[in-house]
Amino acid sequence: MIVESVGQGVTEFKEGDHVLTVFTGECMQCRQCTSGKSNVCEVLGLERRGVMHSDQKTRFSINGKPIYHYCAVSSFSEYTVVHSGCAVKVSPLAPLEKICLLSCGVAAGLGAAWNVADICEGSTVVIFGLGTLGLSVAQGAKLRGASRIIGVDTNPEKGEIAKAFGITEFLDPNDSNEPIQQVIKHITGGGADYSFECIGDTGMITTALQSCCDGWGLTVTLGVPKEKPEVTAHYGLFLNGRTLKGSLFGGWKPKSDLPSLVEKYMKKEIQIDEFITHNIPFEDINKAFNLMRAGRCLRCVIHMPNAKATLVKE
Ligand SMILES: [Zn+2]
Repeated sequence: MIVESVGQGVTEFKEGDHVLTVFTGECMQCRQCTSGKSNVCEVLGLERRGVMHSDQKTRFSINGKPIYHYCAVSSFSEYTVVHSGCAVKVSPLAPLEKICLLSCGVAAGLGAAWNVADICEGSTVVIFGLGTLGLSVAQGAKLRGASRIIGVDTNPEKGEIAKAFGITEFLDPNDSNEPIQQVIKHITGGGADYSFECIGDTGMITTALQSCCDGWGLTVTLGVPKEKPEVTAHYGLFLNGRTLKGSLFGGWKPKSDLPSLVEKYMKKEIQIDEFITHNIPFEDINKAFNLMRAGRCLRCVIHMPNAKATLVKE
């Protein structure tokens, strides 16, 4: 997005700045932001109310009826109004139609591998779900020098695609009569060092935990479940030393950390372009949703050549 204007009190941005807008902000002042341990800002973390902070109202309407802001950024719009805490200034040299992927999936996957799991060189990693999130975890694991990166997905077409992102072995649970966690335990000699749940299925969290080894096995869950939000797992899994960790946006603080990821992309240290399977004009946005539902894309970039934002302080 390009900044069209700024509201009162906004000093960090000016007209013409290039920004990434993010669904979880960073106020830089609250207990969470200043803790050094968290990216879940108390003021702007997982912003879901759909209204602006100052007056609890929306900035969109149709025939007088309010249209609520989606995930704080309302990105399906040529013009939007965003809290300045949910915008990150980036280099004007970076192509916005590529680095937009860092506002969510790709950054979330890399961060889960680097910040949340902190994968060690030579380790064994299992990833459940090979969409953009899972493949970004694979990229992060590969860059950390993981020796085995096992990808699990029920879509057999994912196997080939996944290799380009660092997956060293592909498993389709439908290919085996044994439960997938048993297969993984067997081929890894007792379980992986790390497992990642990137599907958004809480039922898979137990499978991911069981696929880890005793003692230090770590499961990171990144997927957002559409149903059954409760997690159930046998306490024995934890008694035997496993850890389950959640991950919001890969632990990245958007303002503090995203510019460095943009730099890495510009230096070709991380892949982003390869995740873009479709470029679609805004008029055809429903085609993109259909591709997503059918699992026939990684990322569809919706093109709005004149997308602009107004950034406000409150
Ligand atoms: Zn904060």
